[in-house]
Amino acid sequence: MKARGLIIAAHGRQYLVEFSDGSTRLCFPRGKKSELACGDHVEVAATADGQGVIEKTGERSSLLYRSNEFRQKLIAANVSQILIVVATEPSFSDTLVTRCLVAADSQDIRPLIVLNKCDLTDRLPAARESLASYRSLGYAVIELSARDGADTLRPHLKGETSVLVGQSGMGKSTLLNALVPGANAATREISEALDTGKHTTTHARLYHLDAETHLIDSPGLQEFGLHHLDLHTLEAAFPEFGPHLGRCRFRDCHHDREPDCALRGALARGEIDPRRFECYQMLRTEVA
Ligand code: GDP
Ligand code: ZN
Repeated sequence: MKARGLIIAAHGRQYLVEFSDGSTRLCFPRGKKSELACGDHVEVAATADGQGVIEKTGERSSLLYRSNEFRQKLIAANVSQILIVVATEPSFSDTLVTRCLVAADSQDIRPLIVLNKCDLTDRLPAARESLASYRSLGYAVIELSARDGADTLRPHLKGETSVLVGQSGMGKSTLLNALVPGANAATREISEALDTGKHTTTHARLYHLDAETHLIDSPGLQEFGLHHLDLHTLEAAFPEFGPHLGRCRFRDCHHDREPDCALRGALARGEIDPRRFECYQMLRTEVA
């Protein structure tokens, strides 16, 4: 028996595949090297033990992944939107937000920054201030308190396949549970099944909010390496650089110490946020 399915949970080389009748099956890829992600469409050959072998992967409209100098790690496939969860408290990493935005841009995934824990009103002004530069660049920011529900977010999810990312502590699990009641418990159950008993929740997992609205929860992100990107993709992901690109004296300008660098000029005039520029330089040494 062969059937098409959707990967709804991924952990190492084990995948939980869901079929159109709603049934699921634990599956393994045929090849040693093939790497798949939550959200991938696959073709499965059932095996006698109730499991399955993944024989084929469908084309992907997007693939979100991170990488360091040694390896890459798939986060989610076929997503149209990335929800970057930050909070008023604890403080979030600007660098990580920019990394998520760059990764999203490189795959044509729409980013949405979700500022959680807005009920902590004494922390709210500072958090808004740190997000102001993203807003002014045109990135959408939504404010909510996941503890009180996620109704402000819901309309933005409709018809999309969204992936939730964020550093741990930002309230991602609370938000997931507000969107999909019982999700955390279900995730724990699946984790246990995949992990044969170990209590971890480090698996990506896909939930259906309705027939055309899906949500992928990814394990908490502390780092988001982008070694796989090229320089052009990186520069293009900084919208504020746009007007200045191609205007440096040297065509291969590193925007570092070269004379007549258009980006440094814009930086000096206050047209580019120094924190974003610093982040760009860090990423540049990573992809170079
Ligand atoms: P995760 O590590 O990102 O999954 O974060 P959790 O969902 O476990 O939340 C981390 C902490 O923040 C927990 O103590 C939550 O109760 C708390 N938290 C989550 N959402 C909110 C919120 O909207 N308001 C407040 N005040 N606390 C929240
Ligand atoms: Zn330059």
